[in-house]
Amino acid sequence: MNVNCPTCKKTVEWVSDNQFRPFCSKRCQLIDLGQWANEENAIPSGANKDAEAPVPEIDIEDIEAMIAKQEKDFFNN
Ligand SMILES: [Zn+2]
Repeated sequence: MNVNCPTCKKTVEWVSDNQFRPFCSKRCQLIDLGQWANEENAIPSGANKDAEAPVPEIDIEDIEAMIAKQEKDFFNN
């Protein structure tokens, strides 16, 4: 079975060997997670409406640290 990577649309084989499925790679997985995290942070505050919010850059190291923490919490429960 093949799926398309949600990030880059590349065809990905859905096999247990692919630990990043449905993504083609860790990079695409992290990018998708980064987008999710940005949506989570995009709560309209009402303040500074006229100020343009800076577009947060995806910091792979931050995301990797976040994943590592989540995995740690998961295994501790
Ligand atoms: Zn991809």
